[in-house]
Amino acid sequence: MRTPGNFARDSSTAAQLKSNEKGHLGVSIFSEILDIKLPYSIIIDYAHASLLRHSKSMFVEIYRRLSPVIRATIDIALSQQPFPHFFHRRMKSFKDLSFIKATEILNILFYGFLPIFHQHLQHDYLGHFALYICAMRLFHGRAILGPRTSDIANDLIMKYYHDFNSFYDGLENFVLHLHSHYQSQYRMYGTFSHLGSFGQESLIGYIGSNRKGTTHQGDIICENYGIDLMLHHQIENICSCTNIADGPFDPDLNFDFRSNDSVINFHNTECTCRSIKCCLRAFRRYAVKQRVYHSLTYNRRQKSVSYFVRYYSKDNSTPYFFGKIVMFFKYSNSNCTYALIERYPVQGQLSDLFVSTMYYELLSKAINHLFYIVSKKCSLFHDIVHVSRLSEHCIVFDCEEYYIITPVSSYDEHD
Ligand SMILES: [Zn+2]
Ligand SMILES: [Zn+2]
Repeated sequence: MRTPGNFARDSSTAAQLKSNEKGHLGVSIFSEILDIKLPYSIIIDYAHASLLRHSKSMFVEIYRRLSPVIRATIDIALSQQPFPHFFHRRMKSFKDLSFIKATEILNILFYGFLPIFHQHLQHDYLGHFALYICAMRLFHGRAILGPRTSDIANDLIMKYYHDFNSFYDGLENFVLHLHSHYQSQYRMYGTFSHLGSFGQESLIGYIGSNRKGTTHQGDIICENYGIDLMLHHQIENICSCTNIADGPFDPDLNFDFRSNDSVINFHNTECTCRSIKCCLRAFRRYAVKQRVYHSLTYNRRQKSVSYFVRYYSKDNSTPYFFGKIVMFFKYSNSNCTYALIERYPVQGQLSDLFVSTMYYELLSKAINHLFYIVSKKCSLFHDIVHVSRLSEHCIVFDCEEYYIITPVSSYDEHD
């Protein structure tokens, strides 16, 4: 592991002997100029350091160790995996790694890697890389483990760094060392989904070519350039024609409510009228805060999966459920929108894979918050869920005997 001491020593040795000392070529000119010490004086861009550098070289190395048959299986799984409709990029197969974009690496690292590779890698080797995946997701998204989220992420990343040489030769480079500074960066500037440099790069590109690759163009300009709030409100008004208002939309006039017992029971307890057919209205899609959820009745979804969701339960015994939204509906006496959901029960924990490894204790909490093993058989009865209980979209990996499900990490990152 690199320490400030051996870093300084190797750089000055390199400067004196004019040689290459473990990768150091001399003392940086910044060491004299900056009044705040590196790395505190500069933000490490996780999109370059973690995605384009470290993760990418790890993918190359892990792929190299697999047999050709397994490589082919994995490449198919990666390239065919569906995502929610608002993902502009999905995942690329590893044989195309030289052309991969940072967002595609992010999708593989955060979502696809564990579900797709867990059947093909040795558990201690996979467990070690899972430390990295969980740490990066904790640094990236909401503080899902409370105020200690960044401490837990740091414990994971330092264990990963510490054990790195027992699994790999010659890959322990400077970008890996940078990860040991992520916790202080997180404390100072917040989650990484708000820190990537790609928004600014794309803005420069946008000015150059008059084309953009993001859904958050206005927000990015306002945030990066500190543009006044007044102006921002005006922009919002002008664009309002393109934004979808919150609420259900895309009515489905032919939905047969009377064939569903859960809906009939629900209507009979909530409403006094006699005719379900006149009372209930079905919708194929629902929007809240610019997030659009699809349902199974929405036929134009193509290959995207935006109907598989995590939702809060009503009591606190299990915090979350998972399921497919069949459709949305309202009844005439109420303004509330409900989702009819096919529930898929949780049948195990991903941490069970690592019971025999030395990473089990450290990994369990984080990994079980990020990945869920869910049955492929849905419960007999449907759930009727008020839309305020929808938590987020999920990415669903079909692992033959079960699904592995992971919720979307962040909705507002530059894409
Ligand atoms: Zn350092
Ligand atoms: Zn009614």
